[in-house]
Order: sequence, then C-alpha cells, then structure tokens
Amino acid sequence: MTWDDKIITDKELASFSEGPRGNQLASRVAALIEHQKRNWPLLREGYESLQKAELRRISLPGTQGGGVVLQLNPKRIRSTAAPVDKASVDARRCFLCPESLPPEEKGIAYGETLIITCNPYPVLDRHLSIIHRQHIPQRIEGNVETLLDLARDLGPDYFVLYNGPQCGASAPDHLHFQACSRTLLPIEDDLRGRTASDQVIALTGCGRSVIVYRGGDTRVLARSIYQSLDALARTGAPHGSDVSGEPMVNIIATNCERGWTVYLFPRARHRPASFYAEGEERLTISPGAIDMAGVVVMPDAEQFRRVTPERVGEILSEVSLDRKSVDKVVLKLTV
Ligand SMILES: [Zn+2]
Repeated sequence: MTWDDKIITDKELASFSEGPRGNQLASRVAALIEHQKRNWPLLREGYESLQKAELRRISLPGTQGGGVVLQLNPKRIRSTAAPVDKASVDARRCFLCPESLPPEEKGIAYGETLIITCNPYPVLDRHLSIIHRQHIPQRIEGNVETLLDLARDLGPDYFVLYNGPQCGASAPDHLHFQACSRTLLPIEDDLRGRTASDQVIALTGCGRSVIVYRGGDTRVLARSIYQSLDALARTGAPHGSDVSGEPMVNIIATNCERGWTVYLFPRARHRPASFYAEGEERLTISPGAIDMAGVVVMPDAEQFRRVTPERVGEILSEVSLDRKSVDKVVLKLTV
C-alpha cells in the first residue's frame, strides 16, 4: 500500500461536494469528511461519540480570560495514555504509514509531501491529521512555513496545530500536523483585545505560558518563531528525551483576512505528576496543543466529574515553562 493508493479521486469527492466555494481546499476537505463518514464506520463512530461528549466549562483560579473547557471523551484513552518513549515507539508499527491505515481511510494530497486525512478519534469537529508522505521524525525545524501555509489554505474556519515529539505527538517518529474546526478555541478569548497586528507578546493572565505572534508576512513570522525556538533551546528549556534537542512546544496557528495569529506554548514537561499518581490523586490528563489551547480532554468519567478548577489550573501551570524564562525569550525578540 502506498500513499498514491490512499488518495481520494475527484470522482469519489464529487458526490459529496456542495459545489465550488470561495475556499477550494476547505470545500474539498468538507467533501472528504462527508465521504469518510459515509464509508468508514470507525470515523462515523468517532463523530457519534464526539457529539455525545460532555463538556464542563471552568474558570481557572487567578485568571481573567475565558477559562477552559473540560471534555469527557472516552475514545481518546488510546491517545491520551499512549506510550511515547523510544522503546515503545520503536516496538510498534507506525500507525501513520500508509500500509497501517485502515482500507477505508482516504486523503487529499496537499503540496508534494503531505496528505490530509480524517482523524478517527476526533476531539473537535472536522479534526484532521495531516501526514507527511515519508516516515521522518516529528520536527518543527524547517516546518513552520508549512504550518502557516496550511492555516492560510484551510481558511478562517480552521486552526492548525503542531505537537512536539515529546509533548503531545503520539507518533513522534512520523512528521504530522493536525487541524480542527475553530468553533471551540478558548485561548482566542484570552487574547481578545490584547494585541495589535505585527506584534509578539507573552500572553499573561491565562494560567499557562503562551507566546503570541501576529502578522501578515509568512517569512517575518516564521523567522520570529524560529528565533524563539533557538532562544528557548539556549535558555535551557526542556526537550524531554528527544535527541534533536527541540525545545518542548505546542503550536497553534489561525489565519484570517488580517493575517496569522500563532500561539506557541513553551513546555516544562509533557505529563503532570498526577498522570502517574495512584488512586484519588490520579488524573489521566496528558496535555497537547488542544488542551493547552483550552479544551482539556479527559477520557475517564469519574475523574471528569471530580476534578476541581484548582487542579486543572495547577496542571496547566505545572506543564508550562516558567514565566521568567518565557519573558526572557520574548524580550530577545522585541529588542
Ligand atoms: Zn510512519
């Protein structure tokens, strides 16, 4: 099985298309999702389960923003609790390589190197996995421009995300991005009214560390993000056990007529101590980009009901790089 066998034909897409729209890629992707819901039972079940997912909106103590949304999503247990250490990853078959994909799974080619597919365990509506054709490691170096291009080409109804190999990516050995509907993206409420365009700021008051970049020029934005990653690496920001030395980050990008907004979450650790705790202390929360952006996925119903806003606040703070280090990085960018 090769990627060429997995690419959906125009004919297959045609009967799910609602005709030409302004944004061509978004309209092709919408048709892909409908095709896949019809023909791929696992994906259909994933969306049925998402529809039933319970939500709990909470305010984080000591913050001024929009708070976060807890989502009870039992189907995510596989991803939330996935072992991502090198030995476990080496021992399993890569689930993003074409020969491992279910026969029903199809995708749309994006440029020469990426394939857009539907994530069968969606956390948000229109959840896409955007997979590199080659089995090459998850890295942000050289890929920021692609992230920005994807955000622009998918249009304003999506956000695009990158999870670092040691902080959220469940396939650290195979380069991929994700994209989701932008309807539920709480971090946007924290930012509202706080920046002008063409600015880099450390966003405060939201209970986790985040650097926000706004601008309309891909090269300028990408340069600024690469500089931040270099500065984070030099600051000694943790990079987990990753051999590349890439600082632990999650990145989210949105795009609209005014340009891009990029949220970079510098991390101190992947999983909080409570992930490994026993009994009452245990919380199966394993933050990646979506959680850091304010949709905290919880696969366990009992934990979902008992967790307090204080605990969620502590977890997001525990996995975030400390404020002083983040300020140092931003300062270097603005002088
Ligand atoms: Zn692979």
